[in-house]
Amino acid sequence: TVGAVAVDSEGNIACATSTGGMLNKMEGRVGDTPCIGCGGYADNKVGAVSPTGHGEAIMKVTLARLILFYMEQGKSAQEAADMGLAYMKERVEGLGGVVVVDPQGVWAARFNSLQMAWAAAQNDQLHYGLYAGEDFSQPI
Ligand code: ASP
Repeated sequence: TVGAVAVDSEGNIACATSTGGMLNKMEGRVGDTPCIGCGGYADNKVGAVSPTGHGEAIMKVTLARLILFYMEQGKSAQEAADMGLAYMKERVEGLGGVVVVDPQGVWAARFNSLQMAWAAAQNDQLHYGLYAGEDFSQPI
């Protein structure tokens, strides 16, 4: 998956998700990526989410919309991402990761898969990582 979330200077929020699907996928399989609320969701009032991971599990819990629901309930982008991923693991044994941004530009890149390459650009800084707990940064 290549996924992105963004918020512009006028507060417009967007998500985008692209994927090659899963290895050895069944012919005709439609994964989570093109399904609104599963492989992506954006709402100017709440934020945007772009997931990667086990598409069947992501669809079963409508992961992107679930995380935005938690944010509507007052959770931060990071809290909501962790809650959504934990729910997906517990409920349907699915693993994955998400990038999330809220209307103020507060972002999170969270995953419970082994690794997820991610990067975030904000305030002339580039943050990036691959394994859990990493957050490298450098000036852009
Ligand atoms: N979520 C994608 C799928 O199940 C796989 C991926 O993360 O690229 O089709």
